[in-house]
Amino acid sequence: MERVFNFAAGPAALPLPVLERAQQEMLVYGETGVSVMEMSHRSKMYLEIFDRAQGAFRRVFNVPENYKVLFLQGGATGQFAAVPLNLLKTEADYADTGNFAHGAMVEAQKYGKVNTLTSSREDNYTYIPEIKPEMVSKDADYVHITTNNTIFGTRYAAVPDTGDVPLVADMSSNILSEKTDVSRFGVIYAGAQKNIGPAGLTVVVVREDLIGHAAPDCPKVFDWQKQADADSMLNTPPCYSIYIAGLCFEWLEGLGGVEAIEKVNIEKAAMLYDLIDNSKLYKNSVRPDCRSRMNVPFVTGDADLDAKFVKEAAKNGLINIKGHRLVGGMRASIYNAMPIEGVQKLCGFMKKFESENA
Ligand SMILES: *Cc1c(COP(=O)(O)O)cnc(C)c1O
Repeated sequence: MERVFNFAAGPAALPLPVLERAQQEMLVYGETGVSVMEMSHRSKMYLEIFDRAQGAFRRVFNVPENYKVLFLQGGATGQFAAVPLNLLKTEADYADTGNFAHGAMVEAQKYGKVNTLTSSREDNYTYIPEIKPEMVSKDADYVHITTNNTIFGTRYAAVPDTGDVPLVADMSSNILSEKTDVSRFGVIYAGAQKNIGPAGLTVVVVREDLIGHAAPDCPKVFDWQKQADADSMLNTPPCYSIYIAGLCFEWLEGLGGVEAIEKVNIEKAAMLYDLIDNSKLYKNSVRPDCRSRMNVPFVTGDADLDAKFVKEAAKNGLINIKGHRLVGGMRASIYNAMPIEGVQKLCGFMKKFESENA
């Protein structure tokens, strides 16, 4: 069978050149006589792979010197707990802008006083409410936001101003998709399986002054200080996921980096939103200024017709386009690895489906 265009929200499509390279190197990596999966994580060869991946990430994400990059496990969901365990002393403010944002907030409530800074929950998360510095709690240790809401298809158009209070961001679904001024954030974390590489790796970028404050009962694998001291190898890291992520970073760098892919991402998203806005059949409920460039949800308004769309799209080599159960309808996830040809093909299919079913 041929490869198809995979619009899955995560684990998501990986760049074809990365998969091909990994295929070539799979049985025997370099002069080692073994695969990357079989190497000791302490071996010289693996440490080279690890350092290359870290270095490439620092370059493509433009990480300033005073930030540590940790390659951890436990997913973004693990960091929902790790963030309060490392930072929450007095209270923390959370922006409730989606299912994961809400989940992060509920998890943090286990560890201390958590405030809902703002919420669009009542409006089914169809927009990102504004955050102003004067809204932030006086004693907040940090403000937590989710920069792209994967399920509802919303995105912060600008980094909110939280004054002197560190901003902590879950960037799982839009990291590396657009230029990011890392210095505006105290902590950035992301599960890898959307825009970084395979599942299993969690990237945490943390400003050095925010390291070293973990609660005494913080599990050591979640203690950013202990992990930074151990170069993210307090225990066995997700070796193969890190290797593939490294290839993805180098692939992105080869394309011209985040600046270049951002242009493509804007173009891909615009193609879909223009089609939806000019269509009589499809509808996207997100406030236009909050629309995600990574996850584009749309509905026909008729659940049976939605199901038919998903089924026929799959027959046409456009898979995993069913929307999340909280939203229904369809969702096209168009991360960095989705080529523009995939979006063009989807647009062609959408027009044809509309003409046949309107
Ligand atoms: C997918 C996702 C998560 C969950 O990530 P895991 O790595 O599965 O824990 C959290 N936040 C956002 C924004 C996501 O898109």
